[in-house]
Amino acid sequence: MNILETKSLNLFYGDHQALKDINLQFKKNSVTALIGPSGCGKSTFLRTINRMNDLVEGVKITGEVIYEDKNIYSGKWDTIELRKKIGMVFQKPNPFPMSIFDNIAYGPRIHGIKDKYKLSEIVEKSLKGAALWDEVKDRLNKNALGLSGGQQQRLCIARTLAVEPDVILMDEPTSALDPISTLKIEELMSVLKKDYTVIIVTHNMQQAGRISDNTIFFLNGEIVECGGTEDIFYRPRDKRTEDYITGRFG
Ligand code: ADP
Repeated sequence: MNILETKSLNLFYGDHQALKDINLQFKKNSVTALIGPSGCGKSTFLRTINRMNDLVEGVKITGEVIYEDKNIYSGKWDTIELRKKIGMVFQKPNPFPMSIFDNIAYGPRIHGIKDKYKLSEIVEKSLKGAALWDEVKDRLNKNALGLSGGQQQRLCIARTLAVEPDVILMDEPTSALDPISTLKIEELMSVLKKDYTVIIVTHNMQQAGRISDNTIFFLNGEIVECGGTEDIFYRPRDKRTEDYITGRFG
């Protein structure tokens, strides 16, 4: 079943067209990797899915992004509600300067949950979901900025999980992390997809190969090729895909 679909999606930053006629479908409970050289539109595409580009001055978007059978650009969606359902994790971990507990409880509190017991339950479940609970359960009241970079990134994943999203967008979530922290997040992906749909931008081809079910190759704002990750990596149909995957450019 498709959870998300884009139809004839175009995005312009002023005169510059950064996304060109993007038609894609994303299956529920899958991990999709977005690959391609710098500046080809991967982050722009990711941000378009939860309307994070709305705030950029001079942006024009045409076409549709369909989530739950509705175009998210049709005006019926409240962006706060949308970003709860379609959460995002950024390249650099960005915990709030507050306790670990309050970082996770922040979103649920905004959405009206006040009961302490309920909040504790959510915090525990979210931290477990992000494979961080065992490392922090004895210091939930300590400042989150005291965690290592890798732990901070898992905290940010836990913060996203706390508001029960359907889709998690990740923009190069491991590029600022050491190899062991990277591995932990990669392992987490296969667990997350049981409950969520993950779309991840990565520069790391091995990572895309290890963690994703599907891969989309972007070039100059267009999709050159998309499909099962094994097909894209081992049986690419387009010469440009093959050249990129084998490291001839990018
Ligand atoms: P990628 O994630 O693949 O590196 P981006 O989506 O960041 O690519 O960028 C795609 C294109 O859009 C690039 O040419 C970039 O310079 C341009 N771009 C990205 N963000 C903005 C912005 N806020 N304003 C103007 N141009 C932008």
